[in-house]
Formats: sequence, structure tokens, C-alpha cells
Amino acid sequence: MRKDHYARFDGIVLFTRKYKEKDLLIKIFTKEFGKRMFFIKNIQRQNNGLREIAFPYMRASFVGTINDKGFSFLNDTDDVLFPKATISNIQANAYAAYMTGLTDAAFEDFIEEDKVFNLLWQGLGKIEAGVDPSVVANIFEIQLLPKFGVGPNFRSCAICGRDQGRFDYSMQYAGVLCEQHFHMDDRRLHWSPRASHFIRLFSQIPYDKLGQVDLQATTKTEIRQALDDLYEEYVGIHLKSKHFISQMETFVNPLDDKREKKYDNS
Ligand SMILES: [Zn+2]
Repeated sequence: MRKDHYARFDGIVLFTRKYKEKDLLIKIFTKEFGKRMFFIKNIQRQNNGLREIAFPYMRASFVGTINDKGFSFLNDTDDVLFPKATISNIQANAYAAYMTGLTDAAFEDFIEEDKVFNLLWQGLGKIEAGVDPSVVANIFEIQLLPKFGVGPNFRSCAICGRDQGRFDYSMQYAGVLCEQHFHMDDRRLHWSPRASHFIRLFSQIPYDKLGQVDLQATTKTEIRQALDDLYEEYVGIHLKSKHFISQMETFVNPLDDKREKKYDNS
């Protein structure tokens, strides 16, 4: 049986890493073969045509040799969607890095994951098109949860199935509760009605239905906190890219009183 084969495939660059002095490793989430590590020799050489593809968040059609063990190899690219706007904006870049980092952590390499591939492809496209990257990332985080083996029920009350009205989240029931059933869990998370509305919406909206969203800073902070709680409880991974976002948000979001005081003292 052949262990390697030459193929054309769609892919998203997750990250790149220097290898030895002159070479580069580039991790690509391929539509057809899952996540694979590719080896590029002599990346710094001026005439190396693959230099231009060594950028995270780049989406393209690739030609290369797929190996079932170890590194795979690239020969050429086509239909390149270069993330020009994303890498030149610190916020867009940070959220894109978080999304690719989550993708890398959520499931094993070598496994075909069509649904996540399409989600990431479209999500990165939305960020590149200028949609609020925090919203794009929120949708991604929520819709990726099943890949971590978690399927919270955001759609309807875990007790009665109601799907209209006010909702809060219950870890105990792994889903939302309607207002009539808030009393079923003393330790419900006390999501604000706004946060709960958007999280429920984000759990179901496909990216192609997502236009420009304009959320208030407080609503964004509430959603961020709610998703952080869910990820802490259900996923428990701590990515550097996420840590960076937290720092960045502290800095760019002075609406939080406690944080503002900190600046006053300095
Ligand atoms: Zn209910």
C-alpha cells in the first residue's frame, strides 16, 4: 500500500514555526486530510516560492505530498486568500490566532473534520472582511464546543423545552433554563438577558448569515465572561493567544470600573 500521495487540497494555515536554521514547519488544517505538519526547506531563500504562503490564517488551494507519517511537503499554491487585513490589525490578528489555536487543540491531527474546516474557513473570511473579530470568535468558540466533547443545550429550557423569553445557564443541567425554572439551580450563572440572548443566537447562526454586528462594550464583556466560564468548566485549556486577548481587552475596554481605578492609581 502506498504510504504517501501527491494531492491537491484546500487548507488553512494554523501556524508556522522555524525549524533548525533555515527551514520552516507550517501546520495546515486541510479539508481532505485533517491537520498536518508540512516541512519547507530553505524558507529564507529569495527564490523560494513558498515564502509567501508562510502566514497564519492564509487560506488556499495547495498542491503537495501527503504522508501518513511524519511531515508532509508542499509544492505549490493556488487561489490564495491572503489575510492582509487580519495580520495588520492587532485585534483581528489576536482573535484569528485564538481561533486557529483552538482548532489545533480541539481534536487530533490526521482526522478529517469537514464541519470545523468550513467553520474556520468562513470565520477567518469574516474577520478578513472586517466583521467585529470578537463576535466572529465568540461564534466560533460556541460552535466548536461539541468538538471538545461538550454539547450544551443553548436552544431551549433544559426542564420544559421553552425556547422564548429570558434564559440563564445552568452547569448542573448543561444547558439554559427559562425564567420559570431559574429556581431549579441555585448556582445558575446569572447571565444577563443580553448575554444570554446573543449566546443563544451565536450558537445557531451560520457565518454566511452574519452581517456587521455592533455590540455594546458591556455586552461584549458579559459574553466574554460567560464563555470564559463555560470554557473553564468544560474545556480547561489555557492558550497563550487567549491570555493575550484578555490582556488586550483589559487595555482597550476601560468601561470596567475596577480596571479603570487601577489606571487612576498609576
Ligand atoms: Zn423552563
